[in-house]
Amino acid sequence: MSGIDGLPPLREVIATHQLSAKKSLGQNFLLDLNLTAKIARAAGDLSNMDVLEIGPGPGGLTRGLLAEGARRVLAVEKDARCLPALDEIVQHYEGRLEVINGDALEVDPLERLTPPIAICANLPYNVGTELLVRWLTPTDWPPFWSTLTLMFQREVAERIVAQPGSKAYGRLALLAQWRCEARIVISLPPSAFTPPPKVSSAVVHLRALPEPRYPADAKTLERVVAMAFNQRRKMLRAALKGLTTDIEDKLRAAGIEPTERAEQVSLEQFCALARVLKG
Ligand code: SAM
Repeated sequence: MSGIDGLPPLREVIATHQLSAKKSLGQNFLLDLNLTAKIARAAGDLSNMDVLEIGPGPGGLTRGLLAEGARRVLAVEKDARCLPALDEIVQHYEGRLEVINGDALEVDPLERLTPPIAICANLPYNVGTELLVRWLTPTDWPPFWSTLTLMFQREVAERIVAQPGSKAYGRLALLAQWRCEARIVISLPPSAFTPPPKVSSAVVHLRALPEPRYPADAKTLERVVAMAFNQRRKMLRAALKGLTTDIEDKLRAAGIEPTERAEQVSLEQFCALARVLKG
């Protein structure tokens, strides 16, 4: 029995249900329940929140979230082999855990969640960035979630919190920091996972701000940033020339030197450019 909830240890769960890790599903499991409880705590006080978890696998983080007091957890898992193991947690935490067997890129769990909502996940590496970008670019702001507490490969985590002038700075940093506070809260070596991945990992905590840091039209900003970093080695007047014939004037009007490269331009300046372009 394990200390945090009296359910069997995860190694036993994996052996009982024969959950050999599948690489194609990005399965690198966390088996240390003290660690999963620590990740759950990094999400903040969940006692009045519904939590959406993507990819519960054998349920290590799910158990951490429930033991740490999450009001309810809704977990979306693609691999049907995990369902019997997850069902044991459903029984143990009567009424607090619901599991959907499906692809997180396709199911819409919103109607099953009651705000305030936190998203917490050890994301499958193959869909992690795509899910993050979706959560960061909804039609309306504030989004349906209040916080995101997400495990990524270290390199992706660094791209989310990166500052201008660094190699990691780009579209992900700008999308994240425009409307969220973002920080790395836990760093983990490959040995924390079973099987160990090739690279280190980190947990990023993002809190949705009520308003964007600087005003800008979301679609215009997303387009400008995508174009600017698509050709990040080029000067901005070249990288953005497809946007408008007078791009040099527009850049200057936004306080940006046309010969600058995207990597040097701050979030505030990109927002100013989006406003100038929108007119
Ligand atoms: N949460 C578990 C943990 O921390 O030990 C497992 C994390 S593992 C990195 C990623 C999990 O996401 C796996 O259980 C995998 O089956 C699941 N998964 C992969 N692709 C998915 C998708 N498109 N939708 C939902 N779950 C997915």
